[in-house]
Amino acid sequence: MFANNKIRLLVTSECNINCWYCHNEGMPYEVEYMSRNLIDYIENFLGNYRCMVARIVYSGGEALLHDNILDYIAKLRKFTESASLVTNGILVTEDLIKQLKSVGLSKMRLGIDSFRRKRSRPTHGSCEHVNPTEIINICRDNGIIIELNIVLTEYNIGELDEIIDYCFDNSINAKYFRVIREIIDDDGDFVGYEHKDHNYVDKFINSINRYVGAKINRDYDGANTVVLNNGTILRYCELLCSKELCWKSGTRISPNGEIYTCMQARRNPNNIRKIKYDYDIDYESFNIIKKGRCAVAV
Ligand code: SF4
Repeated sequence: MFANNKIRLLVTSECNINCWYCHNEGMPYEVEYMSRNLIDYIENFLGNYRCMVARIVYSGGEALLHDNILDYIAKLRKFTESASLVTNGILVTEDLIKQLKSVGLSKMRLGIDSFRRKRSRPTHGSCEHVNPTEIINICRDNGIIIELNIVLTEYNIGELDEIIDYCFDNSINAKYFRVIREIIDDDGDFVGYEHKDHNYVDKFINSINRYVGAKINRDYDGANTVVLNNGTILRYCELLCSKELCWKSGTRISPNGEIYTCMQARRNPNNIRKIKYDYDIDYESFNIIKKGRCAVAV
């Protein structure tokens, strides 16, 4: 019923920093928070249809800004084998990690671009430094898997070897992203995404080639470069959302109850289904996008 048996809940469109490359998962720019009514609806839906999904991911915006995030993770935990949280780490504390563990979080995906600069991400405005090593160690001490999201830009490209070394030395899986930009037409309407610059795939591969025995594969018609080294997986996402190839995306539910499979699809009204405002069980809303393809015409 769900795209690739995964659900991605975008619990808020708000963030506590303002990265210049942010696509905000394709959500509208108005600040919205996922309501308790909507989570109750999703919980009832999963229960009534006896659903068990491989993964539920909580993301945003910054998911930890949501006051009810612990409660939401706890409510849906019984419907999934794995509960993951995507965060920029700014609000993460040891106490919070323990609380996240207690409600069943399995994995934290930490978005951090620089290990050594004062700001962990390149932002318009201020951004606190996040200590990735500390967060990684606390997660591991508490039995939470930790992985990294790193956007490669001129901000951190000088650190690339260092970050790759860190991932391999500490057996941390990571995704490296190329920046994508929105294409807006003359009328101000969104038409799609483009990748014009910031392509560091050659530098990425050169850096990997320092490791004898690392295996490099190009997946999805070159959209992804995947590296396997002693069990650690690094992925360079070169053509995110431009080739309709990220078919492993899950069913996304945005804070206002819209259901879609990926950012590209999100921008085409024909590809979105909306959970009914009366929160009746609405099987077709989910079933209709079960193919899990990007931009699937339904
Ligand atoms: S941390 Fe993530 S959601 Fe927040 S501004 Fe940066 S890219 Fe966007």
